[in-house]
Amino acid sequence: MRIETLAVHAGHAPDRETGAVIPPIHLSTTFEREPDGSYRQGHVYTRYTNPTRSQLEASLTALEGGAACAAFSSGQAATHALFSSLDQGDHVLAPLDHYHGTGAVLRDLMMRWGLEVTFVDMTDLAAVRGALRPTTRLLWIETPSNPLLRIADIAALVTIAREAGARTACDNTWATPVITRPIEMGVDYVVHSTTKYLGGHSDVLGGALIAAADDEHFARVRTQQTVGGAVPSPFDCWLLLRGIRTLPWRMRAHTQNAVQVAQWLTEHPRVERVHYPGLREHPGHEVARGQMLMPGGMLSVEIEGGRDAALGVAGRLRVFTQATSLGGTESLIEHRASVEGPLTRSPEGLLRVSVGLEHADDLIEDFEQALA
Ligand SMILES: *Cc1c(COP(=O)(O)O)cnc(C)c1O
Repeated sequence: MRIETLAVHAGHAPDRETGAVIPPIHLSTTFEREPDGSYRQGHVYTRYTNPTRSQLEASLTALEGGAACAAFSSGQAATHALFSSLDQGDHVLAPLDHYHGTGAVLRDLMMRWGLEVTFVDMTDLAAVRGALRPTTRLLWIETPSNPLLRIADIAALVTIAREAGARTACDNTWATPVITRPIEMGVDYVVHSTTKYLGGHSDVLGGALIAAADDEHFARVRTQQTVGGAVPSPFDCWLLLRGIRTLPWRMRAHTQNAVQVAQWLTEHPRVERVHYPGLREHPGHEVARGQMLMPGGMLSVEIEGGRDAALGVAGRLRVFTQATSLGGTESLIEHRASVEGPLTRSPEGLLRVSVGLEHADDLIEDFEQALA
């Protein structure tokens, strides 16, 4: 079935007991044994499995075309679980341009714990090959990257990783399975902050790892989930299932608006650069066309005059809300260098934009007055 149909139905079957079309939220933390000691549906205790969480995991598995999924209480918890499933001394290749939280997990938690990490420009395949070590076990892909919207060539990186005997993980938070299909391109793990487009309404925090194979390595991830215990609440799982139903249509609308806003911004004299893979002049445009169904709802823009000019524009916008995060119905704008602190690699004049579902003309008019 197509993704629109899967989004509405996968994991969401009407409740057999009551006929409820929308599944109930199972808040129970514990489940009754049968007289013979067995469990009716295999659920024992909600940290291990919960019916609402199982529905969410089935939905995400179907959306990404994977074999299994582990849902977490945040995107960071999912990222941390995957890195923690490796062994001390294992080596990881991660992109130079990455979501700053991923860098923080690697630097502040995993490197101290004994994981070896090299940050490399993932758009430079020769540099990626050069950074491989005999101990490289995982290559982390983030595309489009944060906040420069660099496009990494997923299929090429999978080939390099396979030759080296390493797994690949792709953070598909920005593209979503509507736009990019990492598992079909040979990626082993898809990572999500479900807080963003999958939830879609800026009211639930969550994460997920979807695996291409339900194998012995995924069993390690599952242990990180159930023993580590960073699981989402049943209500959060239910909210995510609710958001997922409209995901394919929201992504079309986000993209339609972002294309118009990006195009308009490129023509403004106070704008130095627009980073958006849908623009022909974007360095990753051709790769993006090959692996993205549409260019998505995220862009970043560099304002002439650096930090103060960018902050001034952000402060004058009225329809855009100046806030972190992305993927909700409302348009958000953020000066990334301020958020990322001293280790930032973001240009000082850069504003990251999550284009929402308002009318594109209202968004453009808002930029017009803020840039005037
Ligand atoms: C937000 C985000 C994360 C982290 O997710 P949380 O839900 O905030 O923990 C990871 N990767 C990307 C690309 C993100 O945008």
